[in-house]
Amino acid sequence: MDCIFCEIIAGRIPTRKVYEDDNVLAIYDIKPQAPIHVVIMTKSHIPSAAQITHENVSAVSAIFTAVPKIAAKLGITSYRIINNCGPDAGQTVAHLHFHLLAGKQFSETL
Ligand code: 5GP
Ligand code: ZN
Repeated sequence: MDCIFCEIIAGRIPTRKVYEDDNVLAIYDIKPQAPIHVVIMTKSHIPSAAQITHENVSAVSAIFTAVPKIAAKLGITSYRIINNCGPDAGQTVAHLHFHLLAGKQFSETL
């Protein structure tokens, strides 16, 4: 399959892992947009938030169950989580993931 995140999950592309369990992989973003920028992805290939269903939503809850563990590992208590859904929203990798950004003061607006 032509999906860079599936390649990373399969271990075929090297990456800096932050956290991993059976359902979730979190890696440092290759082009960080904040002092701490982690990409948290489902291990199953779901193209975007638009394809979340009753059948696959457990993969999404696995992400948010992992978030406190990732934050603890990073030693942070304040962070922003973003999902880009679709090209107009800035999604460039069609494999469901959430950006965890921290390490600076963010403005209230996006
Ligand atoms: P999107 O733009 O789809 O919301 O987020 C995709 C993110 O994945 C981008 O922030 C991009 O920098 C990151 N990214 C793309 N390819 C790689 C890669 O090979 N390794 C890592 N660590 N991050 C990547
Ligand atoms: Zn994928």
